[in-house]
Amino acid sequence: MSSILDLIKNWYNRFFGQTSLARNAEPLPEITPEVSIAKTPGLSCPVCAHRIVVSIESLLSGQDLQCPSCGLELSVDEDKSGGALEALSKLQNGLNQASKIKSENGV
Ligand SMILES: [Zn+2]
Repeated sequence: MSSILDLIKNWYNRFFGQTSLARNAEPLPEITPEVSIAKTPGLSCPVCAHRIVVSIESLLSGQDLQCPSCGLELSVDEDKSGGALEALSKLQNGLNQASKIKSENGV
């Protein structure tokens, strides 16, 4: 079974990592963060693939997650997930900044 850390890492990579790594041949358009903001944050359940909607704040608080479809429980081990949580904090900061820029631009 995938650990929640793998899910978080995949999720994080979807937001920023893969785009910049996979496409270093082309310059990235500046609107990249906008795409991720438009999506609801969440993880795909490793068992039933149901979308589990969760805020980054909830993950950072170490709250357990439960799949609303199959009832699978995912818990965040704060001791082992320091790196992932730190990455999420940065992600959250990035999203906050992006929303701020967005609202300042009146988009
Ligand atoms: Zn499920």
